Formats: sequence, structure tokens, C-alpha cells
Amino acid sequence: MSPNPLANTPSLEDLDRRHMLHAFTHLADFASGAMGEPRIMVGGDGCHVVDRKGRRYLDGFAGLYCVNVGYGRTEIADAIARQAHGLSYYHAYAGHSSEPAILLAERVIEWAPAGMSRVYFGLSGSDANETQAKIVWYYNNVLGRPAKKKIISRHRGYHGGTVFAGSLTGLPVFHTAFDLPLGPVRHTRNPHHYWEGADGESEEAFSRRCADELEALIQAEGPETVAAFIAEPVLGTGGIIPPPAGYWAAIQPVLRRHDLLLIADEVVCGFGRLGTRFGCDRYGIQPDLLTIAKGLTSAYLPLSGAIVGERVWRVLEEGSAKYGPFGHGYTYSAHPVCAAAALANLDILEREKLTENAASTGAYLQDRLRDRLAGHAHVGEVRGEGLLAAVEFVADRKTKRRFETADKVGARLAAACVERGLIARAMPHGDILGFAPPLVITKAEIDQLVDTTAAAVAAVLG
Ligand code: PMP
Repeated sequence: MSPNPLANTPSLEDLDRRHMLHAFTHLADFASGAMGEPRIMVGGDGCHVVDRKGRRYLDGFAGLYCVNVGYGRTEIADAIARQAHGLSYYHAYAGHSSEPAILLAERVIEWAPAGMSRVYFGLSGSDANETQAKIVWYYNNVLGRPAKKKIISRHRGYHGGTVFAGSLTGLPVFHTAFDLPLGPVRHTRNPHHYWEGADGESEEAFSRRCADELEALIQAEGPETVAAFIAEPVLGTGGIIPPPAGYWAAIQPVLRRHDLLLIADEVVCGFGRLGTRFGCDRYGIQPDLLTIAKGLTSAYLPLSGAIVGERVWRVLEEGSAKYGPFGHGYTYSAHPVCAAAALANLDILEREKLTENAASTGAYLQDRLRDRLAGHAHVGEVRGEGLLAAVEFVADRKTKRRFETADKVGARLAAACVERGLIARAMPHGDILGFAPPLVITKAEIDQLVDTTAAAVAAVLG
């Protein structure tokens, strides 16, 4: 018999291990196979994805909380194809533009909270936050305040992985091995009442303490050196942490008192996830700058935006006299094909009233998770807002003692969910399962999500 010509052909899994450098992955364990087979996805529809072995999963995290309108939307695919057949690319430098980018800019400003004026399109949340930082620095240079440059973010905040956005991020795993943070960044308290609140301290009192600490930090640095505060309305990757009662009402006057710009990082919260268009709408936040990505295109193509409020815009415009052209840009900024995808995505969000859907199904998700899991002996907290939720696990509920890191409880729980056909995310800090399904999720699918999670928890923790 002749030898099988395919016998030595490497599998796709082998090729992945051999050639891909993966994001946020234990590189040695992945390359050696110790992490098991890579899960290679090949298709999706609605809230489900399918891997190449034909296994179907309920995607409880919408990719990386980005596929807001769900998978398999031919309407978006068709819009992408139409635009690529027409004008596949043009840039937005030096007075050039394209139809979909212009129409999208108008649409984004219409969606955004009051007072927003212009949008600078990038490709990722990280590059949009880089743009925001540069806008903050430019703004203060135009105003003749060259020392006012520091940007304060929060411990456990997530703002991206590039050098400066990664510095704004407040998670050690994104810093330690890379010599970050770098540049004019300071971090202030993570507003997580469960862990950071003192014994018997109310949420309101804790919020006031967070605001007082922010003010003390600004004073210690010198207000003339601090330019901006950046925060997610609900803190996302750091653990899905909704603000404690009164938080935003306490923080904003501090910023105004010291003339700091407020950058609302809406990369996760924006476009309906919390049951409002933006997190700012939910919490009464009045930003000067607002960052968007993910839900803008539901990740059919990469696209982000640094939205600029009227007050900042006027100063940027003034800057032309001093600096000439605004010296910032990426080749793919305002990419027409990505903009066409975003327009089709916004059509769906509006037509299907997915923000409203997220409000009602979101409330249902929060209730069901709480009913089913809050009483478990190892559940410290169930929390969230809209279709963004987390369950945090502890070794001892009374003392809030954590599990040992080496026990990898969060990762084991996520793996037990996947075995049962549900994708939940083990958040990168602590033993936390995160949920952020597509906004099209139904109550029946939420029941399935909660039941599967409860079964996984019972299997791992009893
Ligand atoms: N900001 C927030 C709030 C995010 O959650 C993320 C990504 N998870 C980013 C910024 C960075 O976005 P990207 O991964 O597209 O660079």
C-alpha cells in the first residue's frame, strides 16, 4: 500500500501552535499543547458560534463584548461588500473624505450624549484612547498650559494594550513584564465597594471617599499638572464593576474644580450594552471626550472613535493658528468599508430596538444570576448592569478570603462552562466569571446561560 500522502500534513491546530503569537495566552503552555487543543471557530448565528469540530456554543461574552447585534448578519456583510466594490479605500487626510465616513460621523454624534461635536475614527479602542491622550495634551498646549499633562485612571481600569493606553490600564498583568506604565499617568482607587469599602461603610460614603482620594491625588500632584481623568462608566475588563451609589455625582465636581477633562471610555458600555445608548446616559456622566469601538460595528470590521466635545473642539480648532495641521493620523482612519459596516450595524440596533431589549433582558439576566447563584457558598458577589454581569467567587464568603491563585478557580469555571456549551469569560483579575452576551439574546437563552453556569459551578465547587 502506498503511504498516505496526508499522514505528515500538520493539522490546523498544529499550525496555530507553531505560527501564531496569541493575545493574552500562556505562550509556553499553548505552544507545548499543555493548554489542550485550540478552539477554532468557523461559524456563527445570533448568539451562537460553532467550532470546526461542529460543536455549538452559546456565546455569553459576544466575542470580547463586541458582537452586539449577534453573528451572521448578512445585511452587514452585504454593506461591506457593496462598499468594497464601490470605493474600497480612501483616506481622510488633508481635506479628503468618503461618503460612509461622513454619514457615520453624523450618526455617531446623533447617538452620543449632548455636547459632543466631532469624531476621529481609528481602528481599536486602544488607538482611540491614544488619540484621546494626544488630544488632551494638544488642548493644554494650545491653552498655554504645557505642564498640565497627567492623566489619572483607576486601578483595575482597562483602556487598551498599546504603550500609552496600556499605561492608563490599571492591571499589573498588562504592566509588569513590559516596563509599564510609561508617561504622565497616575492611578486612583478602584471603586469596588465589595473589596475596597470599609466595614460598615455605605456605598455613598465609599463614593465620597473615592472622590476625596481623587481630589487629594490631584492636590498632591499639583492641579496645574493634571489634565484629565479617564474611566469606564462600568469598569469592564478589571472585573465588571458598576459604580457604587453616588460615585459619578461625587467624582465630577472634583474634575470641574481642578479643570480636568473627563474621558468616558465607552468601548464596552457604548451602543446599548447597559440598556441605555451609552453608559454616560445611565449614570448622568457629562464627558468632554468619549471613546467608542466594539459595538460601533459589532466587530464585523475594526473601527473605533475618539469623540470630542464642543468645548475641546473649539480649542483644537484654535490650535491650527499655532501648530498648522493637526499632526495625527493613521492610514486606516475613517476607513470607508468599516464605516459602511458601522452604518449597517446602527441600522440594525435602531430597527430592532436592541438598546431597549438590553434593558429588559439585562434586568432578567441580573435577576436570574442573583436568584440562582448569590446564595452559593463560594459566591462573594453577583453584580452588573444591563447585559454586562459578573459572578465573583471566594474561598470563604464570611471573611472574603480569596482562593489561591494557583487553584485557577476562575479559569476552571470558564472551562467547565465551555464543556457544557457556554462561553463565559474568566476575567483576568480574581476568580470572576463575566457575561456580556449579544444584545439579541432572548430570555430562553438567558435561562440556558444561567442554568449552564450553575451546573458548571456545582461541578467545580460543589
Ligand atoms: N477600553 C475599554 C473599556 C476596553 O474594554 C477595551 C478592550 N477590551 C479597550 C479600551 C481597548 O480596545 P481594543 O482591544 O480594541 O484596543
